[in-house]
Amino acid sequence: MGERKRKRYRFPKGMRPSTLEERRIFYTEEFNLEKVEEWFKHRKIRNTAFAVIVGRHSDIYLPEYADIKNKAAIIDEHRGLGDVLKYILQYLPEGVYYDRNVYKELRGCERCGSYKDCWDCDNFLGQELAFDIDPENVHCPYHGSVKDKMERGEGLSFCMIEFRRVRKLTRELYEELKAEFKNIRIVFSGRGFHIHVFDRRAVRLTKEERGEIARMFSRFAIDPWVTNGEMRLIRLPHSLNGLVSRICIPIEPEKLPYFDPRREAIPSFLF
Ligand SMILES: [Zn+2]
Ligand SMILES: [Zn+2]
Repeated sequence: MGERKRKRYRFPKGMRPSTLEERRIFYTEEFNLEKVEEWFKHRKIRNTAFAVIVGRHSDIYLPEYADIKNKAAIIDEHRGLGDVLKYILQYLPEGVYYDRNVYKELRGCERCGSYKDCWDCDNFLGQELAFDIDPENVHCPYHGSVKDKMERGEGLSFCMIEFRRVRKLTRELYEELKAEFKNIRIVFSGRGFHIHVFDRRAVRLTKEERGEIARMFSRFAIDPWVTNGEMRLIRLPHSLNGLVSRICIPIEPEKLPYFDPRREAIPSFLF
């Protein structure tokens, strides 16, 4: 059983991995498909691929999925969110993601084999630009640098000092991006923040331009693989982050400075 050798993480008070039953309760009773649909107003859900990771970081997963527990299981055969939800309830994953790539036809890139080389392919129309700002990437007076944390196997743990730093960096990055783009969203990911840019111009950026942007904004402790386009999956807003038991939610920029993960985005199974 997967739950035997569960890893230990250090999170701010009240945050902890969700059990399979809690995931089931969340996706049955609380997951808001209308809000997810609203998120996708800028693109077609029908042409969007989704993915689930059943237990990579939490080590909590249904035994029948032990051999895929660390992998992203891609959902590219669906007729909409209702179907996606069926897959989620089948897998009861620790995390749900969507593919930021925009395809002409959802399954048109199957023949390309690996999606990695689709930047020049006919079926590929672009990729939503995104920034992933995570607490492990900032230095902490108590827990050290990202290297120190990785060496101790604490790459996913975080404290409130690190969280406040990423919150401030997210705000600063948002302000800088506002000078360049119009349609920007901030999302609390469960540990840190994501910034999504929906502007058409951003979707059409080349791989080289994205690499340049990743370098330009590296001081904001972003994950370069998300911004440069290599990592095309991003956590689905309004889904459950099963590692910390928090809902991944969009945040109004003016509320960002006060956002506290110990008190907000809490799924009702914790009450
Ligand atoms: Zn392709
Ligand atoms: Zn720390």
